[in-house]
Amino acid sequence: MAMRHYYRKDWQKFRDEVIELDGGVCRRCGRGPLQGAILQVHHKTYLPGKMPWEYPYGYCETLCRGCHASEHGIVRPFQGWVCVGDDDLGDLSGECDLCGTQIRYVFFVQHEKWPAMEVGEICCDHLTQTSEASDYMDSKRRYALRESRFISSSRWKRNQDGLLSLMQKGQHISLEKVSENFRLTVNQVTGKKFFKSEEECKRYIFKIIENGTLEAFFRKFQAK
Ligand SMILES: [Zn+2]
Ligand SMILES: [Zn+2]
Ligand SMILES: [Zn+2]
Repeated sequence: MAMRHYYRKDWQKFRDEVIELDGGVCRRCGRGPLQGAILQVHHKTYLPGKMPWEYPYGYCETLCRGCHASEHGIVRPFQGWVCVGDDDLGDLSGECDLCGTQIRYVFFVQHEKWPAMEVGEICCDHLTQTSEASDYMDSKRRYALRESRFISSSRWKRNQDGLLSLMQKGQHISLEKVSENFRLTVNQVTGKKFFKSEEECKRYIFKIIENGTLEAFFRKFQAK
């Protein structure tokens, strides 16, 4: 199953809906947050190929953490875990459900016989017995490194008019200031998008060169 990036909004929305449909209490013991219960969503059957947030509501029910654990038995399975999503929380506000470490990048793992968990990179690799999560993080780290080198590159030259420019992969890029904002020109084609800072502008052009959507940039503006 492919990993879904930025899964969290969908999962949280789905979870809130199931809990609301169940009246905000555990279906086994009837306790809710007011009684100190931490509510979770239990998938009654496993539907292959479906993301945990794509199940029909009838396949899910609200259980408190205690009732949920006893529903699944005591021993967490060692094999058969699949990573289905990842998200960037922007800071270390997450906590790995497996080891308790503070995490920024969360990986959503599921198992047909165990509640889904949000874990860090290392625990994700450990559970799935793959290097999927760390490979993904490595590529993210490499990208961030290349991006910061590009942003602070000494190849950026500023002319007398304050126009900042450089050549990147055969493309002539320049940034001009238009009142308080910045605008991008690539090989004489000026974009319509405005950026708040030069750095934001550089991030954007770096991204579209890297992911191959620079072509689309030209098509969009030259068609007119
Ligand atoms: Zn469950
Ligand atoms: Zn309960
Ligand atoms: Zn962990």
